[in-house]
Amino acid sequence: MVLTCLQASYRLDEIEWATLPGERPREAGRNARLAARGRSPVARMARVRIGETTGFGMSRISKEQATMLIGASATDMFEENGTVKEKFRALEFPLLDWLGKLAGRSVYDLFAWPGGPASRGKNEIKVPCYDTTLYFDELHLTDDQAAIDWMKREAQEGKDRGHRHFKIKVGRGARWMETRKGLQRDIAVIRAVREVAGPEGKIMIDANNGYTLNMTKEVLMETKDCALYWIEEAFHEDRVLYEDLKEWMTKHGMNVKIADGEGQADPQLMEWAREKIIDVVQYDIMKPGFSEWLHLGARLDAWGAGSAPHSYGNIIGNYASGHLAGAVGGFEFIEWDPADAEGIDGSSYRIEDGLVTIPDLPGFGIQLDDAVFSRSRRDSGWSVKRDGIQ
Ligand SMILES: [Mg+2]
Repeated sequence: MVLTCLQASYRLDEIEWATLPGERPREAGRNARLAARGRSPVARMARVRIGETTGFGMSRISKEQATMLIGASATDMFEENGTVKEKFRALEFPLLDWLGKLAGRSVYDLFAWPGGPASRGKNEIKVPCYDTTLYFDELHLTDDQAAIDWMKREAQEGKDRGHRHFKIKVGRGARWMETRKGLQRDIAVIRAVREVAGPEGKIMIDANNGYTLNMTKEVLMETKDCALYWIEEAFHEDRVLYEDLKEWMTKHGMNVKIADGEGQADPQLMEWAREKIIDVVQYDIMKPGFSEWLHLGARLDAWGAGSAPHSYGNIIGNYASGHLAGAVGGFEFIEWDPADAEGIDGSSYRIEDGLVTIPDLPGFGIQLDDAVFSRSRRDSGWSVKRDGIQ
């Protein structure tokens, strides 16, 4: 259906790759495992040209891989439903952007289905998002009240940018603070952010595997009145421990969702989602990627589980991941890591009241400044062209 616009003569004529440096509104601090994430994420971008149309998007493709793919026929790159075949997944975001532009349809609309979450032909869609910027940004403050005020101010900055939902990094006592002090500060920060968010906002916590089961229970008990929405990566996923946590929550009348799946996820994770041992799956938006996520999301929908792709530090993921909501009913949130990069214009996306408006524009609806991208490609990137193409 989607592919009726493809002509057999379309070939992958050119692949260009470059990085565009970005800047966050403020420094992102440490998490339970890692040193400060800083202020300068980088967009790794590929632009493809097929016939008269170009498409671009995030990509980690190497020049060697590009050399293998160049010249391929467009009909070989896509499955019948419009997803990108595995061999071409290193280029899937540029290819989906290209397909949308060719068809004159947004990516979410390409994959929307009748009766699905976003009906075909609907103008823009609004997708929930959360502010993912609340890292351990206050570790330099030994005074607890000053630390709490610091994090409150950051949450307020997010609220001023249109956010209503917040994810808070926790697990300060795993590495960077003394165990008990870290736990207490985690709890105080959760309370402070709940105050800023108000009763309507959803609050998630993410321990980056820095808690034990018992620490998790302690934090959940101490913040029971904060009505957390999910706990993410409490500890490295473990069926026995998650079953224990679920049982304990039921006993104490809690309903905090268990979210997991980024990084080195357990291969059994989908199975655990089916069995309701976990509630929300968070594989990364770039790997396994958008096409695989459409497939995963459909399975999670069938099981009543949530889909919340991890997306951090790549700039474009803010704009790309919400397009899944066109097809995935259980799509929970876009993880929003704000950053601008010269040359990338995502201003057609708006955040208001905790929702991202995804524009009804062809492809992913982002504008790329050709001159900026071409300059960066000449300076630090590369391009591969099909034989005989100028
Ligand atoms: Mg995480």
